Amino acid sequence: MNSKATAESLTIKLPDGSTKELGAKSTGLDLAKAISSSLAKKSIAIEVNGDLLDLSTALNDGDEVKIVTVGDKKSYEVLRHTTSHILAAVVQKKYPNAKVGVGPATENGFFYDFRIDDYKITDEDLLEIEKEMKKFASGAYTLQREFIADVDTRLKEFRAIGENYKAELLEEHRDDNPSEYFFLDNNGGKVWSDFCRGPHLPSTKFIKSVKLTTVSGAYWRGDEAKDVMQRVYGTVWWNDEELEQHMKRKEEAEKRDHRRLARTMDLFSIHEEAGAGLIHWHSKLATVRMELEDFWKKEHRKAGYEFVVTPHIAKTELWDISGHNSFYKDNMYSLQVDDQEYILKPMNCPFHVLIFKDKKHSYRELPVRMAEMGTVYRNEASGAVHGLARVRGFTQDDAHIFCTRQQYVEEIQGVYKLVEKIYGILGLEFTVEVSTKPEKAIGDDSLWEFAEAGLKQALNELGATYDINAGDGAFYGPKIDFQLKDAIGRVWQGATIQLDFNLPERFDLTYNTADNETERPVMIHRAIFGSIERICMVLIEHFAGAFPTWLAADQVMLVPVADKHNAAAQKIADELIDNDIRAKVDTRAERMNYKIRDAQEKQIPYMLVIGDQEIENNEVSVRYRRDNKQKTMPVSEFILQIREEIKKRSLDSFLD
Ligand SMILES: [Zn+2]
Ligand SMILES: [Zn+2]
Repeated sequence: MNSKATAESLTIKLPDGSTKELGAKSTGLDLAKAISSSLAKKSIAIEVNGDLLDLSTALNDGDEVKIVTVGDKKSYEVLRHTTSHILAAVVQKKYPNAKVGVGPATENGFFYDFRIDDYKITDEDLLEIEKEMKKFASGAYTLQREFIADVDTRLKEFRAIGENYKAELLEEHRDDNPSEYFFLDNNGGKVWSDFCRGPHLPSTKFIKSVKLTTVSGAYWRGDEAKDVMQRVYGTVWWNDEELEQHMKRKEEAEKRDHRRLARTMDLFSIHEEAGAGLIHWHSKLATVRMELEDFWKKEHRKAGYEFVVTPHIAKTELWDISGHNSFYKDNMYSLQVDDQEYILKPMNCPFHVLIFKDKKHSYRELPVRMAEMGTVYRNEASGAVHGLARVRGFTQDDAHIFCTRQQYVEEIQGVYKLVEKIYGILGLEFTVEVSTKPEKAIGDDSLWEFAEAGLKQALNELGATYDINAGDGAFYGPKIDFQLKDAIGRVWQGATIQLDFNLPERFDLTYNTADNETERPVMIHRAIFGSIERICMVLIEHFAGAFPTWLAADQVMLVPVADKHNAAAQKIADELIDNDIRAKVDTRAERMNYKIRDAQEKQIPYMLVIGDQEIENNEVSVRYRRDNKQKTMPVSEFILQIREEIKKRSLDSFLD
């Protein structure tokens, strides 16, 4: 590259590979203006060598700069965080005793923590505050950063006005070149300020489509021993249309919330007296679980896996060898029995390794694919447990593959195909990420190169698209992560395929090669559901409780037209049950239409109406839960059709 940069000029690299010459002391905004005035108008921040910074940041010669404009993925973080300061400014104006904490951006919005000793913010207040925020933002204040040169003086000033949380943060960051941001009016007058390191929008004028959602209590810095703050949550978007779409998605997500459906559909419960994060599976969801497990086992058997069952506890010695007792100790439950300490397993891997190690292996016996629905326990913080999403006890659909280096690529492809097949049947879309070597890692570079190249080769040969997550692998090996996308576009963590250089070393795993030399096998950890709890949560929300027939706990509800038809209905139900169809008869003294509606609300796929005519012709009148169409057919025909639908694990009704 021919840089013409001198002391008076800067050469800036742009994402397309081109360069731009700018005058000395130019900022991100100057760069945007030099490219085009229309770009400058919609620019809100810059990424310099990968760091997100204010648009007003001065550039250095040789910087690689990406301009972030309104609507870019990165722009939302800046919009949301800046809006949190406006919330703080308005709250402090409205409640002069309010002391400010922190105000980060969240996934879809922001929050800000306040301490107000003499007032509790209500939901009604939120509407008022929201209105005032919009008014404040329309003042088009510019944001200006000032570094704090004299930290001690500023600390005294903060403490003098009771801003002790700000003081605490400044004290902590005193050596990080701390800064404050000022909101400036048209005349450069300082309207309000907050301790922060940014980045922020250049002006408040961009903030229009904001909505405050809730207020709740939160401990300062998440520490139960510290002050209780009032946390105000909100969401903000670049325009009203985006905001409206978000609110609709949120409403839909709330309707589908698995904890809500767990109550209305009688799926699972969690009990204080048993402990947080411990799931009690009620009959309906237990049926879904058993069906998923059967399906999983069948597919794994076809893919050449063998099943094992391992203990729930093991002596500390095992976890010392595996290394878990040092790097995973805080997450493990231990039990003392006489003089011996045991650990409740947080992972199944060491047990599978012991089974592999139990005999000498020849290259001819590899790959070994060892699978187990293994129940593990991990000590998650009580504040972090959440429905089926974050639990303390769960069952992993775990498997470990031990193979040779020559088999490695093919084994990765085998797992990928299995993931594709299983998710395909469940109707879930997915995306793929490859995470590569992190800064702190074990294993030499050639091992990492071999492993990463193998993962990429496996995916490339399959024509799979994937993103690279540089540096995000585990310290013991690279991995492939699958992200699931549900019916309303939300993304969930799904399958993982994880290489491991660590355990084969620690347990000294070997096999004999064709030349009768000993060699370390390659070890792959993989889970497809992740855990049975996680996949059930995703499926409850994905199907909004309306499971496809093969998963539904009750597949058929027989509805007798009158009491006198009960016996005939029960006879048909028995025939269905004999054919492995889960059927029940609604014999309650209710009207037929009520029973049909009730079955539809419970998301039971099929309702069979039985009256005089049906009995006489040995027929049933079939309804599917979604529509009110009714089709009459012989009992034998219904059995044939529904059995086929269940066998195919179809997502749709045979009536469609
Ligand atoms: Zn800030
Ligand atoms: Zn494992």
